[in-house]
Amino acid sequence: MMLIDPPSVFAPETEWREFLTEMEALTSELSRDAALVLSYVKMAKQQLAIPLDDQRFKCPECKQKSGVNIIYGYPTDEATQQAERNEVTLGGCMQEIGAPDRQCLSCGHQWQTQRKRTNTTSNR
Ligand SMILES: [Zn+2]
Repeated sequence: MMLIDPPSVFAPETEWREFLTEMEALTSELSRDAALVLSYVKMAKQQLAIPLDDQRFKCPECKQKSGVNIIYGYPTDEATQQAERNEVTLGGCMQEIGAPDRQCLSCGHQWQTQRKRTNTTSNR
């Protein structure tokens, strides 16, 4: 990767515009590369059946990083596959109010992360 130095502050506008164009081109190239690398990491982890770290949460009960999201509703093909890879767990068709949204795969503990806001805004 070639990185050019910015022009001097006294450089003419054309030089700065040229510099901007090059930097913008570089930015889109970099984000494309980063996205590609990330997808390769994901691909390799799936191939090796390594759970993706960002999909595991720390269990408040046993303190292990084995918590996964509980997916409610009729499971999509993707959700079914994720469940087979232990990336999520399926919670059934109906999510009741106050139902847990995380489950620990080590100890089976279930907990709720997102507290639904209770009528604090509708009182006005
Ligand atoms: Zn646990």
